[in-house]
Amino acid sequence: MYHIDKNGFYGEFGGAYIPEVLYKCTEELRKAYADILESREFQKEYRQLLKDYVGRPSPLYEAKRLSKKYGAQIFLKREDLNHTGAHKINNALGQVLLAQRMGKTRIIAETGAGQHGVATATACALLNMPCCVYMGKTDIERQMPNVERMKMLGAEVKPVTCGNMTLKDAVNDAIRDWCCNPNDTFYVIGSAVGPHPYPDIVARLQSIISEEIKWQLKEKIGRDYPDVIMACIGGGSNAIGTFYHYLDEQHTRIVMAEAGGMGCDTDKTAASLHCGSVGILHGSRIIVLQDSDGQIIEPYSISAGLDYPGVGPVHCNLAKTKRAEVLSINDDEALNAAFELTRLEGIIPALESAHILAALPKMNFKKDDIVVLTVSGRGDKDMHTYLKHFNNVSL
Ligand SMILES: *Cc1c(COP(=O)(O)O)cnc(C)c1O
Repeated sequence: MYHIDKNGFYGEFGGAYIPEVLYKCTEELRKAYADILESREFQKEYRQLLKDYVGRPSPLYEAKRLSKKYGAQIFLKREDLNHTGAHKINNALGQVLLAQRMGKTRIIAETGAGQHGVATATACALLNMPCCVYMGKTDIERQMPNVERMKMLGAEVKPVTCGNMTLKDAVNDAIRDWCCNPNDTFYVIGSAVGPHPYPDIVARLQSIISEEIKWQLKEKIGRDYPDVIMACIGGGSNAIGTFYHYLDEQHTRIVMAEAGGMGCDTDKTAASLHCGSVGILHGSRIIVLQDSDGQIIEPYSISAGLDYPGVGPVHCNLAKTKRAEVLSINDDEALNAAFELTRLEGIIPALESAHILAALPKMNFKKDDIVVLTVSGRGDKDMHTYLKHFNNVSL
């Protein structure tokens, strides 16, 4: 009941609310994706690349000092160790392979922090596809290293100057491009959002995370499910990958953390599930941050990767049906959690991942609880922010 239905809905969320001009594009994709993703030929090439290029399986690491501190047996799923430093490459590679099998010859993508742009540019370099990445001008200025990486990888970075010149505006421009070039162009979306079938495509491609957790746990503790499984949510792709094979496992508590920013009671937040309401964003019926006129409110988080004004339809349904518990984590809590993991385990996490680490002290685990928490990415890109706050962090 938590998986997608035949119309592309998760409960009341999802669907494809798109303008007429996009109908052809999404229909073509809808008809093609499942057969291709399930084909032996696709799976063979995708899995080979995940193994030899991305470096999968990513380790499931028992964090002993963290476990001791929180009174449970905590395993970290190390997506930070993937090539390009996060889980996003799993999705970007899969979508570019899908594009090739659909006969597309040009890739477009949107990016906020630049992480998805880098992953897509990487996949395109590897698979020899021209790549155009839409990025808000504001984001270009604050994420220069990722812009340079994309350019070095051969991608064209197109500055977007509408609206607040951030992620939401980049998505709009990418969609516009797709409308104009439906025949040769494939739009690689970076998270489990957008019109059907994108959330399902992204979920299937990221489900490798929980597929691995199952056998890795079995090997380590003799059973294949944890008592608690945890991930951060921006649009929700690392989270759905982490939860995918446990959605119907009622013994497993699902916990997700969204970015509270300065707090849910302020207007500087990205906590859509706590502060938002039902609306349509980027072709999908989801919970979004909006004012009483239905205008999207610009989200805020210290972590650029969680800075999206909505969350994918799967997660809206998991929250609404109470299958998942949702915590809102503020900037300062995430910063403290990043330093804690660094000092306890010698792992510098991405700021996004730090949001789910910051949920640990709020969990009240039972003593024998087996916990799996996904570290979605590494912190290299966030060193500037970490160093700026170093003196204010309570270690
Ligand atoms: C982009 C990103 C996220 C947020 O995206 P999801 O689709 O919610 O997973 C989380 N962690 C890292 C490291 C990211 O780069």
